[in-house]
Amino acid sequence: MILLNGKKTSQEIKEEIKLKVSAMKERGERAPHLAAVLVGSDGASLTYVGSKVRSCEQIGFESTLIRLEDDTTEEALLLQIEQLNQDATLDGYIVQLPLPKHINEERVLLAIDPKKDVDGFHPANFGRMALDLDAFIPATPFGIMQLLERYKVPTSGKHCVVVGRSHIVGRPISILMSQKGPAGDATVTVAHSRTQNLAELTRQADIVVMALGIPEYLTADMVKEGATIIDVGITRVADDTHPKGYVIKGDVAFDEVAAKASYITPVPGGVGPMTIAMLLQNTFLARQWNQA
Ligand code: NDP
Repeated sequence: MILLNGKKTSQEIKEEIKLKVSAMKERGERAPHLAAVLVGSDGASLTYVGSKVRSCEQIGFESTLIRLEDDTTEEALLLQIEQLNQDATLDGYIVQLPLPKHINEERVLLAIDPKKDVDGFHPANFGRMALDLDAFIPATPFGIMQLLERYKVPTSGKHCVVVGRSHIVGRPISILMSQKGPAGDATVTVAHSRTQNLAELTRQADIVVMALGIPEYLTADMVKEGATIIDVGITRVADDTHPKGYVIKGDVAFDEVAAKASYITPVPGGVGPMTIAMLLQNTFLARQWNQA
């Protein structure tokens, strides 16, 4: 069994970007600049945004954190977004989700200039991705593709079952893995909450991508010998024995499934760290594409 080590691979990707950024600076060019907009004070969102900003600093990017109050109106947020769209010193930005309930997420995401949409959530980017054109690919599926490619996991002609069809993980990874090219050319089945006999499907799969958010859902009896297992799930499960009061669990019963797998991602340390690295990669691409 080979562990797909997202912690290590994401560090390598960050080092690669860092080198390119120092070369840029030596040529007298401006470093890539990422901004993050955070509305409210949700604990998990604060942690995520904090680590994105810290990662920018580590690799020599400019970063800006824009914090808005919980009661910020949708109009005020849209005005902020318009300013970011116009800001020529900014290459890309993200609006941290979820937004407070009184704000319409769809209207906000549609207001982001697709050229600065480094999360890849705008329909213009999603459509371009689906049509094999240059696009910002959502960071989590982009990270999974990088892990598969860098570890040379065979995907061509393989049967991949993706469990979950969300717009940010399941749907895009199912499109990417069925496309021509590295980490692609797979025959993809997409499963969801209405799928019948899921275990029958996963048992046939050469590759299983779990993105549903139910801790340890995939058990050893649901996978075939030698399968590749990608675990996207991140759920906080209460645990009084841990100083934080919780532990992070993936969608895979790791120990028993790892015993049968040929490749597997751990949680934490698998897909999670890759997500941040690919956000940085998208920002670097934004810097290149927007100056061309
Ligand atoms: P969503 O809740 O948006 O989607 C979950 C999907 O799972 C839905 O398509 C749902 O089906 C499907 N599903 C739910 N229950 C079942 C079931 N019993 N059998 C089969 N399918 C089921 O989640 P996300 O895609 O946003 O996230 C999934 C997980 O990945 C979460 O744990 C999240 O925290 C994590 N995540 C991790 C990231 C990382 O960086 N590692 C990034 C993003 C997410 P239906 O469509 O029918 O409702």
